[in-house]
Amino acid sequence: MSNAMTADIVVIGGGMVGLASAIALRDRGLDVVLCDPGEARARTSYGNAGVVSRGSILSMASPGLWGKLPAYLRNADPGLRLRHRHLPRVLPWAAHFLAASRESAWRRTAAALAPLTAAAYGEHRRLAERAGTTHLLRHPGWLKLYRTEAALAGSALERDILAENGVPFEIVAGAAVRDLEPALIRPFHGAMLLPETGTIADPGGLVEACEGLFSGLGGRTLRGTVTRLAPAAEGWSVETAGARVAARQVVLAAGAASAEIARPLGYRFAFAAERGYHRHYALRPGSPALNRPVYDTGAGSILSPMGEGRVRVLSGVELDARDAPPDLRQIEAAAREAAGTVRLGAPLDNRPWLGSRPSTPDGLPVIGVAPRHRGLILAFGHGHIGLSTGPITGRLVADLATGREPAVPVAPFAPDRLLGWPRP
Ligand SMILES: Cc1cc2nc3c(=O)[nH]c(=O)nc-3n(C[C@H](O)[C@H](O)[C@H](O)COP(=O)(O)OP(=O)(O)OC[C@H]3O[C@@H](n4cnc5c(N)ncnc54)[C@H](O)[C@@H]3O)c2cc1C
Repeated sequence: MSNAMTADIVVIGGGMVGLASAIALRDRGLDVVLCDPGEARARTSYGNAGVVSRGSILSMASPGLWGKLPAYLRNADPGLRLRHRHLPRVLPWAAHFLAASRESAWRRTAAALAPLTAAAYGEHRRLAERAGTTHLLRHPGWLKLYRTEAALAGSALERDILAENGVPFEIVAGAAVRDLEPALIRPFHGAMLLPETGTIADPGGLVEACEGLFSGLGGRTLRGTVTRLAPAAEGWSVETAGARVAARQVVLAAGAASAEIARPLGYRFAFAAERGYHRHYALRPGSPALNRPVYDTGAGSILSPMGEGRVRVLSGVELDARDAPPDLRQIEAAAREAAGTVRLGAPLDNRPWLGSRPSTPDGLPVIGVAPRHRGLILAFGHGHIGLSTGPITGRLVADLATGREPAVPVAPFAPDRLLGWPRP
């Protein structure tokens, strides 16, 4: 091995979760090595919608799932594309997903996420101040748009749960939607405004700035893919193609690759990659700017302003292997719908971006010490909200690594809930 190093703790994965963890661990005075291949577009943290919302407490496994199941299975719902040949590989995930869609489970998930999402914007603001990225952070709220009366009425349970967890929202009726967002050209029956929502205009830029902050704090980065993670005499041995690091503790924060890395240690997590796409477009000359991200629930896609007249169109979920070739049908359909929603101009990228949401079936991240290994902290599975909740997760990881009481209760995020089949 050409390069042998030692550290107090190694963080595997340099997306929002891994970087926030590495920074928080340096803040506690630990000698930290971060391992990441360093490919910006390979991070899901690069390509998301940039939404940091207190209201993101409603997991995909909702009671409404049962009514939508026939459409999902036929790929007739724009929000979800299933690759049928992939389904046998995600059976444990699917079994947990169905179990998590009971109303009681949905409510429990929301209550467990609420303290995380409540802390998310404040943690982002503090991080942005240190990383020099406050210019990327705004607090304009975000809008969920409903095309029909029935669609708005269908959000009643969601609103009940938001209210129960102290998340403020306003229902905006008909024409008032366009007063809020003059860029919209499609008539909507109504919208839900979630005012306690921040946005990040360039999530990839934030991640890069965090890399700079980490190295400025004296953190070391090892560029490479971890090929082996194994217990060793004094803790752990972490190997890439050209280097080995010995450390007392390890944080596994490799996003959608995390479950594969944990597998040789005997952990088979119910886990999946929820793939998603984006493509940037200009708004046509004369169109008002989009003030905030909007989620068109009828199209199952999000439009998010990304600075300088750029709009990022983001697809819903595609359930397929993380490394399967891209299938552009879903993002192309999202772009067609988006062209009826705002005055969309030419695409600004040659090809759409594809990334994988690290998905747990119950919508809760995995944050905790590995059940059968001391010194291995698991921090992955943030699904649809990992950009928002990355910084607070970093703080929780540092709490776990240094033996402090976690700033937010972590019992609901315990790893062992996703080992084996769902409990009745
Ligand atoms: C279309 C879309 C829209 C989204 N919108 C939002 C949103 O608006 N708000 C929000 O909060 N979230 C959103 N998300 C989700 C969010 O992007 C993810 O939850 C989050 O980025 C996950 O962060 P992460 O650090 O866990 O993973 P990643 O950002 O993927 O980082 C993981 C890192 O680990 C590295 N890695 C993998 N394997 C290894 C290995 N063997 N060794 C070393 N390193 C390795 C990878 O290269 C990568 O750099 C969205 C996701 C998608 C796809």
